[in-house]
Amino acid sequence: MAYPDSEPEVCRVIRRAAANGATVRPVGAGHSSAPLVRTDDVLLSLDRLPAGVLDTPRDGQVWVGAGTRLHRLGEDLGRHRLAMVNLGDVDTQAIAGAVSTGTHGSGRGLPNLSALVTGVRMVTAAGQVQQVEAEHDLDLLRAVQVSMGLLGVFTAVRVRVVPVFQARRREWGLPVQQCLDTFDELLTSNRNVDFYWYPRRDDAHLRTVNPVDDDPGPWQLPASGCTEEQAGWSNATLSKRRSLRFHEIEYAVPAPAGPACFQEVRHRIRSRHRQHTAWRVLYRYVAADAAYLSPAYGRDSVTISLHQNENLPYREFFADVEPIFLAYGGRPHWAKIHRLAGRRLLERYPQADRFLAARDRLDPHGLFVNDYLHHLLGLGDETAAAASL
Ligand SMILES: Cc1cc2nc3c(=O)[nH]c(=O)nc-3n(C[C@H](O)[C@H](O)[C@H](O)COP(=O)(O)OP(=O)(O)OC[C@H]3O[C@@H](n4cnc5c(N)ncnc54)[C@H](O)[C@@H]3O)c2cc1C
Repeated sequence: MAYPDSEPEVCRVIRRAAANGATVRPVGAGHSSAPLVRTDDVLLSLDRLPAGVLDTPRDGQVWVGAGTRLHRLGEDLGRHRLAMVNLGDVDTQAIAGAVSTGTHGSGRGLPNLSALVTGVRMVTAAGQVQQVEAEHDLDLLRAVQVSMGLLGVFTAVRVRVVPVFQARRREWGLPVQQCLDTFDELLTSNRNVDFYWYPRRDDAHLRTVNPVDDDPGPWQLPASGCTEEQAGWSNATLSKRRSLRFHEIEYAVPAPAGPACFQEVRHRIRSRHRQHTAWRVLYRYVAADAAYLSPAYGRDSVTISLHQNENLPYREFFADVEPIFLAYGGRPHWAKIHRLAGRRLLERYPQADRFLAARDRLDPHGLFVNDYLHHLLGLGDETAAAASL
């Protein structure tokens, strides 16, 4: 485990590993379900590098330390009267880790976090610092945005931010059919909206988040069903603390296919898995973006994710539902569990060749590749790596 405390030290760690024939995996908070950071060689943490806001925000963009946890970043941005455009369900990730896997929240106009990155400072496999900015090298930036640590170790990222705002979250208990029937309308009138479906009870829990100053009010849904209401700074309202540990599979399907895909998933779970499924299914909406390996590349997407408690079997359950996602043109979340790899995976990404070309150029000897990533990109022994899931 390497904890460099400066960028030159990151360069030294990488050069030393290369000289010793070792590989390197950068790690953020280590929250991914897929074994992206598993290694017997060097695990490199950015936790001792400068964190938070690194310079004066300019034109709605700001450089931040790559290892900064999102909750700490929210506080730091707040001191500059700024906020993240959006967050996922939790804010415990490092920004580099969240960006590198296309972590997202939910809302019609809201892309995943990687789409908000306009620049990256990274240390390449050659042990050299390279700054990639949208204004100078958009092609490389689009490869780097969702790159799972395969193109270099980020030391800082430049993100687009918004003026700090107060937000109100409301939560409703509703029939799942009502969530589906009104989802499109709710997406139009609310900044953030998503819902959880609970297979055992076959009911749902819908959440909306809106700026307090531009709040459509609770009138769209029966006020009696509103189970929770909370207002505060957006960085504290958009995400929640979660203590349960779980396994998760998530796919992004083209948005128009979302309702039909969800209904098939629901039917499959109710007919075959309801007794063994302890937890919930999450339905969200993510705006299209242009990062080459983004699950929302080129298309507005609905994401559907299955959660299973850590101590319950998940492999057969996930494997039985996954073909439904595939039939709807789904692309898996990079950080979560799935069984796609190689050509069958990459053919779902129209710009995968551009990503692979950047990888070949920046890391020709596979310094940043572990067994799982070999398998994922179709470079190695697929059976051995698939078994590690
Ligand atoms: C409780 C929980 C809730 C979640 N909620 C959501 C959600 O709402 N939406 C969603 O989309 N996802 C969600 N996720 C998934 C989560 O956002 C991703 O797993 C994310 O990648 C975790 O960030 P991390 O800092 O832990 O990254 P890690 O798991 O440590 O790393 C993820 C990837 O980033 C790379 N990486 C890390 N640091 C660097 C760096 N400095 N330079 C280059 N590459 C780097 C790693 O090599 C790895 O490939 C959730 C996960 C959990 C456990």
